[in-house]
Amino acid sequence: MNRNILIQTLQDEPQKQWDIIVIGGGATGLGVALDAVTRGYKTILLEQSDFAKGTSSRSTKLVHGGVRYMAQGDILLVIEALHERGLMLKNAPHLTANQEFVIPVYTWWDVFLYTVGLKFYDLLAGRLSMGKSYFINRSRALDRLPLLKANGLKGGIVYHDGQFDDSRMAVALASACVKNGGTVLNYLRVDMLLKDENGKITGVKARDIESGRKYSIKGRLVINATGIFADEIHRMDNPLSKPTIRPSQGVHIVLDKSFLQSSSAIMIPKTDDGRVLFAIPWYGKVVVGTTDTPLDTITLEPKALDQEIDFILRTAGRYLTKPPKREDVKCIFAGLRPLAANPDNPEATKEVSRRHKITLSRSGLLSIIGGKWTSYRRMAEETIDKGIKSGIIEKRKCITKNFSFYSNGMPLESERLKIYGNQASEIEELIKEKPDLGELVHQNLPYTKAEIVWICRNEMPGTLEDMLARRTRALFLDARASSEAAPVVAELMANTLGLSKSWQESEISNYRKLILNYT
Ligand SMILES: Cc1cc2nc3c(=O)[nH]c(=O)nc-3n(C[C@H](O)[C@H](O)[C@H](O)COP(=O)(O)OP(=O)(O)OC[C@H]3O[C@@H](n4cnc5c(N)ncnc54)[C@H](O)[C@@H]3O)c2cc1C
Repeated sequence: MNRNILIQTLQDEPQKQWDIIVIGGGATGLGVALDAVTRGYKTILLEQSDFAKGTSSRSTKLVHGGVRYMAQGDILLVIEALHERGLMLKNAPHLTANQEFVIPVYTWWDVFLYTVGLKFYDLLAGRLSMGKSYFINRSRALDRLPLLKANGLKGGIVYHDGQFDDSRMAVALASACVKNGGTVLNYLRVDMLLKDENGKITGVKARDIESGRKYSIKGRLVINATGIFADEIHRMDNPLSKPTIRPSQGVHIVLDKSFLQSSSAIMIPKTDDGRVLFAIPWYGKVVVGTTDTPLDTITLEPKALDQEIDFILRTAGRYLTKPPKREDVKCIFAGLRPLAANPDNPEATKEVSRRHKITLSRSGLLSIIGGKWTSYRRMAEETIDKGIKSGIIEKRKCITKNFSFYSNGMPLESERLKIYGNQASEIEELIKEKPDLGELVHQNLPYTKAEIVWICRNEMPGTLEDMLARRTRALFLDARASSEAAPVVAELMANTLGLSKSWQESEISNYRKLILNYT
């Protein structure tokens, strides 16, 4: 992935007619672009910021059917998601893992309820099941989760779901698009839709955020995959269009692994206010969340509310013998769910279905909103199929069910590097050539200098934040450590990408302002 080369296409061939233009580089847009590219359509994806800068880097990191959606009776959604879970674990084994969960149970009624419920969940997964669920008694539950409060505990229900690295999955999708002949560009914002004399969409007007240069890009089918921003694009199509999105904020906190001391995750199916709370081991830390707070503002950089952080800390403290406090939190991150607006009851976000919606406007704008990371592949397939049904693009078969992101390439000395995919051995080569690059960028972060150099050469990071938040997950693992590592990382980036000292200084300063949102 090289942005200069990719953007050159727009400069060299301004009249090029694309088959498909995708707006939005989150899970949804990248999934749609990969589906389109692999069917053989000439495809371009435009992202106004960095890939997965929006909701797609701020998830709970689960590849799951959704135990909660089953409890809400949305069985079809769960069956579909469980199927997609199986495909994602098969096709991206380097970024996903089988995670064991334990539901602590405190009444015999709950033992019965959750045992039966999770057996049903297993059944729905069919042959793509990740392991059977079963009941364990109190002492075995405490063996698995030594820091779980024992008072009144009857035992636990063990079940399995998938876990993944969301923003690295997004980069894997972007990279796969490029490898298959597609064009994906970050920092290119769509400002306007182009239409012909009959009012049909013929392309987009986009602006390069880095250079300010504007482009008119022509395409047969324009797809709006902008998540919480979908209504902005709807208004570009029709200024009178009604709001369709009601954002709902979900917050997570990250703690040191000493708060869980287990490789099993905890799932609390019903908190005080009827939510689900997870505490999940992730890259040597524990991710705890989430909340569900309806909001009126839509932003790329949402901020956790004090009451959301307090709720997570309070609830975790009710189940753990070592209750976490504010000062123990390594990172706080917030994401916005693009839920469908309910004009009759705008506050009801917990009950709104997480199912995605695909719509086609009169002028030919195809929009895909909602859904889950887990289902990105199926959502993409349905979106392109809808484009075919509309007659805008010709029929071609979807092939992503068996599209593999990883073939067990060169054996690696460090298993951790697998997250970089098939070319990860190049990072080890870099260290062999220059042993200094084997040093960590910070003693409390797992990343070496070689990874920074390799990412600069291969994964199109535009800013220091792209590197620390989404190519590596330094910001999410330990925000303060990432801030301390910022000068070293900025210097490595500048040296590799040929950028100036003043670039480094302004990036460090921007990054340190940004992390106030995460600490
Ligand atoms: C708290 C929380 C936890 C979640 N946990 C899970 C989970 O564990 N598992 C799971 O499967 N799902 C989970 N989800 C759901 C999942 O994260 C989302 O469904 C998914 O990330 C949405 O992706 P998206 O591409 O639609 O939106 P986004 O990721 O927000 O992407 C939209 C992109 O469009 C870009 N854009 C907007 N306007 C323009 C423009 N004019 N020009 C160019 N680009 C533009 C934005 O910059 C943005 O990057 C969770 C969601 C939340 C909020």
